[in-house]
Amino acid sequence: MFLEVTDLVKTYETGAGSFNAMDHVSFHIHQGEIAVILGPSGSGKSTLMNIVGGLESATSGSLKVEGKEISTLSPKALGLYRRDTVGFVFQFYNLIPNLTVRENVEICSHLGKEPLDIDELLTKVGLTEQTHKFPSQLSGGQQQRVAIARALVKNPKLLLCDEPTGALDYKTSKEVLALFEEINRNYHTTILMITHNDAFQAMSHRTIRIKDGKILSNELNQTRKTIA
Ligand code: ADP
Ligand code: ADP
Repeated sequence: MFLEVTDLVKTYETGAGSFNAMDHVSFHIHQGEIAVILGPSGSGKSTLMNIVGGLESATSGSLKVEGKEISTLSPKALGLYRRDTVGFVFQFYNLIPNLTVRENVEICSHLGKEPLDIDELLTKVGLTEQTHKFPSQLSGGQQQRVAIARALVKNPKLLLCDEPTGALDYKTSKEVLALFEEINRNYHTTILMITHNDAFQAMSHRTIRIKDGKILSNELNQTRKTIA
């Protein structure tokens, strides 16, 4: 099993008492799958992603990646897990404005043990002509491609994405989704994604539904339709 979450609880202390944003969550994902997390606002999607990505720790429960327990790692070891295993893509691209496209990707390439070739990757994501431009000179779709290349260059086993097409128009979204599909196929990257995009749900292998911090369902997509 690639990713195995068991009985995960995340409790926040608020003025009104304690509150479980993750309420005994268990689910699993196989290596090489594209899994989509669906749920209304406030259901705990971001909390779950942050815990899986090692950005936040759970209050209790187990998170295993490739059989290795992550939830008991020291802060330093957790940092290494984040660095070596996980790539992040967000709705807003979070690029460094005074670095070029290539430099934005390059600063992350040193993080991985076996980084991908930067120029090959930029070609793959369709940015051959843009390598020496700055983020402000690019369209939203192009900026997201840079962000995807930056997340991928260290060759992470797990790609976590939070609404990566949320700021893009329909056509550009489709292109970006086709790119995720290609990445999944070429690099066997396991992708866990929060998205409202129907096309992406249709092409995912697995759908995980969450509500009020609880898993409602975790199902394989039998009628998977690929984009590319
Ligand atoms: P939060 O960041 O609090 O989780 P959501 O991402 O759930 O908020 O979005 C808030 C609302 O906006 C939801 O009702 C959702 O349906 C809508 N929404 C967000 N992103 C999209 C999108 N890409 N397409 C359509 N609806 C969206
Ligand atoms: P989603 O991404 O599905 O919108 P979140 O994971 O952001 O949901 O939030 C789940 C619940 O946890 C929400 O009710 C939110 O208000 C609460 N929450 C998130 N972060 C904190 C925090 N740092 N302190 C207290 N409550 C939080």
